[in-house]
Amino acid sequence: KTVILWFRRDLRLADNPALRAAVEEAERVIPVYLHAPEEEAQWAPGGASCWWLHASLQALSQDLAAKQSRLIIRRGQSSLSLLRELIDETGAEGVYWNRLYEPLIVERDRSVKAALREQGVNAKSFRAHLLREPWEMRTGKGEPYRVFTPFWRTLAKQGDPPQPLRQPPTLRPPGQWPSRQTVAELGLLLRPRWDRKLHDLWQPGEAGAALALDHFLDGAMAVYKDGRDLPAESDTARLSPHLHFGEISPHQAWHRARARMAGQARLSEGGEAWLRQLAWREFAHHVLFEFPHSSDEPLYERWAGFPWREGYQPLLRAWQRGETGFPIVDAGMRELWATGYMHNRVRMIAASLLVKNIRAPWQEGARWFWDTLVDADLANNSMGWQWSAGSGADAAPYFRIFNPWTQSKRFDPQGRYIRRWVPELAELPDRDIHTPQASAPAILAAAGIQLGRDYPEPIIDYKTSREEALAAARAIRQS
Ligand code: FAD
Repeated sequence: KTVILWFRRDLRLADNPALRAAVEEAERVIPVYLHAPEEEAQWAPGGASCWWLHASLQALSQDLAAKQSRLIIRRGQSSLSLLRELIDETGAEGVYWNRLYEPLIVERDRSVKAALREQGVNAKSFRAHLLREPWEMRTGKGEPYRVFTPFWRTLAKQGDPPQPLRQPPTLRPPGQWPSRQTVAELGLLLRPRWDRKLHDLWQPGEAGAALALDHFLDGAMAVYKDGRDLPAESDTARLSPHLHFGEISPHQAWHRARARMAGQARLSEGGEAWLRQLAWREFAHHVLFEFPHSSDEPLYERWAGFPWREGYQPLLRAWQRGETGFPIVDAGMRELWATGYMHNRVRMIAASLLVKNIRAPWQEGARWFWDTLVDADLANNSMGWQWSAGSGADAAPYFRIFNPWTQSKRFDPQGRYIRRWVPELAELPDRDIHTPQASAPAILAAAGIQLGRDYPEPIIDYKTSREEALAAARAIRQS
């Protein structure tokens, strides 16, 4: 029996249930990756994700070669047609894959499964990307969760998820390999090449994911509980792109952290806080699966009437370029552009400025992140933006507007993060670096800064814009 193993965003050999089943049930396994981005329409991978995907596919190809196997890559308009061609060429009797939860992919996979089964092919899917299936998690009323804390309570009560599976020792190859395209032929790398610097910062692939996790468990996990909020430190795991592309599974991450915490009291506080963040990822995926409109529209419909600012576009562009005159936000936006990543605390501050003060639609911010983040993930990104806009899954009883200056002083007290990414402000004293517009002229002069020339004045009046946003939110609540 021959089985096609359809790799998607599970670009790993360990803890891969579809791979495990294929190896156990078939004499010959044909690993394939199908590139049909049109099927994901506006949510096909953005620029930074494409760079990651390119490198991750190369890593997977090498890992498979080391097991006497191959990654068969094909590009086309329709995954079903590509699979049918491969079935014709190889006589495969089964197609196995791991499930994903984004609306367009769910729809595509359902029709692929039905069509293959109809032609007598054994199409089977497995859970690998999440700790629990969305349909397994229900409130007391039998509804999907829309608030995190009760979701987390239920998840935690269910105990640890199953142990991860080991890598299979070998994958038995077919007698004859079908033809394949190269990774380069997928044309994932953008021209002009702006992505070279990303190679110095990230190591896509299964080995890189394991290294990133080890590094975190050996170091920052001990201080994660408080350290995770300090953007100048490297106290988070930087695992999000690896998890997005499935180079490591949430089960592996969970159990490796648990194993490290066992018997080490000093790690338990940080470790528990980190497992809770993994549960946020889980929650975001459940919400998107249950409420598929929430990647494009507010989770709660009444927010569709929020009055976005007319003519917000020039302000949006200044935000994208990191030229808002709010140093912590500019630092974040420049970190994003330079590294494909932004610290979570700063994502929240930058998002709040865009949707609450600039009052640009959250979808604009989500779109920009989609193109520039190496960890762009439809579930996590939609959740993050809707949470920031106040239109999504959130227990906060008030309309949260982050004060960028207070946040900056609290979480980057010495301005180290700002100095790293906004070097024109580097000479300002710690007290002034968060609010250059409020600095005495002599201090600015001593630091060699003329506002408006070397660094912008705030592009928006914080107080007035805050009042306007609050009034708009009140009107929606009363409607
Ligand atoms: P750690 O702190 O080490 O956390 C471990 C893992 O838990 C992360 O890798 C991630 O998978 C998960 N996680 C942590 N925080 C969150 C969260 N708030 N929501 C969901 N999962 C979480 N995350 C993405 O993966 N992709 C996105 O496109 C994305 N867009 C965001 C947009 C906005 C506006 C906001 C506020 C947050 C967004 N996040 C997104 C969530 C979060 O910022 C990142 O997951 C986190 O910064 C990744 O860094 P890390 O791996 O070092 O995280």
